[in-house]
Amino acid sequence: MNAFTDIVGHKNIINALKHAVKNGSTAHAYIFDGPVGVGKKSVAATFAKVLNCERGESEPCNRCKSCLTFDAGTNVNYYGITHEKKNITVGDIRTQINANVSYPPQNGKYKVFTVPDADLMNIEAQNALLKTLEEPPEYVVFLLICTNYKRLLHTIISRCMIYKFMPLASSDVINYAVENLKLTSESASLYARYASGSIGKLKSMTGSEEFSEIRSRAFNLFSNSETSDIVTVYSMAEDMKKYESNILNGVLDTFFSIVRDAIVYKQTGNIKYVMQSDMANEIKEISFRHELEGLFVIFDELYKVKKRLSANGDVALLTESLLMTIKENSK
Ligand SMILES: [Zn+2]
Repeated sequence: MNAFTDIVGHKNIINALKHAVKNGSTAHAYIFDGPVGVGKKSVAATFAKVLNCERGESEPCNRCKSCLTFDAGTNVNYYGITHEKKNITVGDIRTQINANVSYPPQNGKYKVFTVPDADLMNIEAQNALLKTLEEPPEYVVFLLICTNYKRLLHTIISRCMIYKFMPLASSDVINYAVENLKLTSESASLYARYASGSIGKLKSMTGSEEFSEIRSRAFNLFSNSETSDIVTVYSMAEDMKKYESNILNGVLDTFFSIVRDAIVYKQTGNIKYVMQSDMANEIKEISFRHELEGLFVIFDELYKVKKRLSANGDVALLTESLLMTIKENSK
């Protein structure tokens, strides 16, 4: 990411950050909160670069030593916090943050600490960070990146400037896919429907051979659910267990779109209201094979499963129950 102007969307947040840099009114700690893949890390990285750019303006110059080392990943004033365990532990905070805050930057104005997945800090880790946040040295800036900042202690939240990142407009996601990923506008629109305003999500789907295969399996499952035997159901549940969470979410979103389209077609009888126009025949077939009531039952179950999975529910159990609901509600 070279400059704020390269970032898709989030213009209000970017303008506020640029304004703060220009006026010398930056805060010591920020929370960037919002869904995965919408651009929080890109904004954080560019902001970190701007803070130490020798030109001192609200966009990075991309020529000074600080900008060049930042791009090369060797900037000594920038700390990207990593963690090996599922949670960020007190050890991570002590060795990567607390050990480095007490002395000022060698060159440049700020030491910038970015904490991706900051809401994965356990309580001890948060308390360790809090000590620094309570009396931050002048030269320290923290960028805490979260998907749910409410998991953080109140005492941390109250010391941070909070920026909430919203999903991107579908048109922005489509333009990005056409311009940067060289997709045709038709396939960009298709992927954008599943990406829910997240470029990160769109990238993980387009980069995945699994996604188109999963989509056709999902359609198959709905079309043949009343004839598919229990072994088919279990084998698909077994496969779903192996998917990474972003792919698994893609599968659930595919199910959602299928059910949504089948409901719409059943109610309107008009294919032009269907989102997945490339699968018009399949949608017609699926809506023919399901009662309206059954489709609503599946929709509710999908909603429940998605919620439980995001709370770390058992993937195998939840997907089995979902697939059985789909099967049972077919005629
Ligand atoms: Zn620079």
